[in-house]
Amino acid sequence: MNTMPLSMAARCEELIETLVVPRPFDIDRFLKALAEKRGRRIKLIRGRLGPDQPFGMLISTAEIDYIYSADDVPPLQFRHTVMHEVGHLLLGHFTSTSGGGETLRVAGDDALRLLLPTLSPALVRRILARTVYASDEEREAELFASLLLSRVSSVRDAHAGRAPTLHDDLVAPETIVGNPVRQRVWRATRHLTPLWRRVVAEVPQVRLSDVDVGALTSVERAQYRLYRRVLEIRDAQLLLRPYIPPEIPEWAFAAANKRGLDPVAADVLLEAAELDAALDAHRAGQRHHPEVVDVVMPRYPSETPGVLTEACQLIRVGTALHSDPALTALRRR
Ligand SMILES: [Zn+2]
Repeated sequence: MNTMPLSMAARCEELIETLVVPRPFDIDRFLKALAEKRGRRIKLIRGRLGPDQPFGMLISTAEIDYIYSADDVPPLQFRHTVMHEVGHLLLGHFTSTSGGGETLRVAGDDALRLLLPTLSPALVRRILARTVYASDEEREAELFASLLLSRVSSVRDAHAGRAPTLHDDLVAPETIVGNPVRQRVWRATRHLTPLWRRVVAEVPQVRLSDVDVGALTSVERAQYRLYRRVLEIRDAQLLLRPYIPPEIPEWAFAAANKRGLDPVAADVLLEAAELDAALDAHRAGQRHHPEVVDVVMPRYPSETPGVLTEACQLIRVGTALHSDPALTALRRR
């Protein structure tokens, strides 16, 4: 019997194997099945905390596991944050403390007081925020969510017209050339890379680097890489929100109106203008929103998109950021 300790990726894969993963993926159905399996209630709290607060948290009491996820973010990022906290829960990342006969296990931040004011902060023993991957536990939770969701939110869900399984590629090995999924994912990754490079150069803490993703097939590896790039850009956008100059949304909507852009193109222009200005302001150390940020957010589609859909949106943002003449004019003001 092999008694070698499992790698982080292998531990995550082993765990994923045991889970009921709905197709197409649905976070509420996933949590319901998980709660039934564990025999413990899970309560999802959607909310919105301040700009320097974590956007995900897990708070466990004797009866209930509360998962908080910021809900003013793109659906892919919301779902990822929930799954990151599920990773902490299932990978056993928490210290147990006794207080007043009740066992409380907590990961998160003092911000939990805003979410669950009746819980005593004195019982908080550990603070983990999803924005920093310094600890092994943070990296492992992040890897768990990425490995699981990079496959379920793949292009196959949206375009292949059949329910994929996590191990499609073991059952039907891809050919070396002509694999349409891999080609689309690779092409999207290539087009997204310039924007991703610019963003992680300025906000390097969003990167999950130096992780051995283990024995993935080449399609899974490509999906994982694209998924991480989309998510890391989205995470950086969230961290950069306090740096968005307050006049940008109004400027972007006016520019979009003047050019008669459709709502999707207007969102692309808004996102590009916000990101461009926020990157510059961050570099200059010029924070525009000291307190709670209340900027106009792009309109996100209500259905859960695949990673490829979000990648396409961000590729358009990157193109606008690089070459839209209106943005160049805005920069020169
Ligand atoms: Zn975490």
